[in-house]
Amino acid sequence: MLIILVGLPSVGKSTFARRLSKELYLRGVDNVVIGSDVIRECFPVWKREYESYIREATYQLIDRALREFYVIVDDTNYYNSKRRDLINIAKRRNKDYRIIYLKAPLEVILERNKRRGEKVPNELIVEMYRKFDEPGKRYTWDKPEIVIDTSKEIDFNRVIDTILNRSTRKSRNEKDRGENDLRSKTWNRIDKITREVVGEYIRSRSIDKKDIKVILELRKKFLKNLRSKDLEEIDEEELKKDFKRFLDNNKTIYIKK
Ligand code: ADP
Ligand code: MG
Repeated sequence: MLIILVGLPSVGKSTFARRLSKELYLRGVDNVVIGSDVIRECFPVWKREYESYIREATYQLIDRALREFYVIVDDTNYYNSKRRDLINIAKRRNKDYRIIYLKAPLEVILERNKRRGEKVPNELIVEMYRKFDEPGKRYTWDKPEIVIDTSKEIDFNRVIDTILNRSTRKSRNEKDRGENDLRSKTWNRIDKITREVVGEYIRSRSIDKKDIKVILELRKKFLKNLRSKDLEEIDEEELKKDFKRFLDNNKTIYIKK
């Protein structure tokens, strides 16, 4: 899947991308964050004439990664032509895509940008803000699945739900927020527990070095299966047992003695 971030400089894209990446990983989704800055920063200075290489190289990195990972595109993607290019990369690879539009009041963006040392001058951001071709305004293909105000608290569970199954459950009140915090904590516990089980399992069953990869893959499968379940409360001992049983039942399919 291709996750296309859209938003002005300093709105909080890179911060959001890192967190989203971690949350997806915790749910067993291999993913990578790629943005044109990765290439741009390889140059000693910036020149306009470098930009066409930077754009093409970034597209190539994205295209290659898309073959095996979810890709989060951390770029301004200011013009809808850029969004269209990215969507076409996803379509050519037969992958689904989601557009996430990050916004915030102009004062907030300018304040964050100032604090960061105005790598992009504030005047330029003001101008971009005025001329911004907001995703979804002109074309329906460009409509964002998710719009996020980064000056408010971000509900990552809702973001993940929308990305993974297009469900649009909203957290409207304190109770829902509390439940979402609980789900975040639960996923962190599951991550920790399944990791511990893998370590213990490899030692106790004297798994070959070359087969560790298989066990790690099975862990991912197990997490994937859990994703569809309602995870309000987990019984940690039951989870450990379930996971060990899952490993015992499945490892023989992959590990040939
Ligand atoms: P971008 O990648 O869009 O240019 P960054 O993620 O680098 O923006 O964030 C710009 C600045 O704003 C950073 O100093 C960051 O710490 C801060 N920031 C980002 N997101 C938030 C947020 N949700 N709440 C408060 N500050 C934020
Ligand atoms: Mg950034």
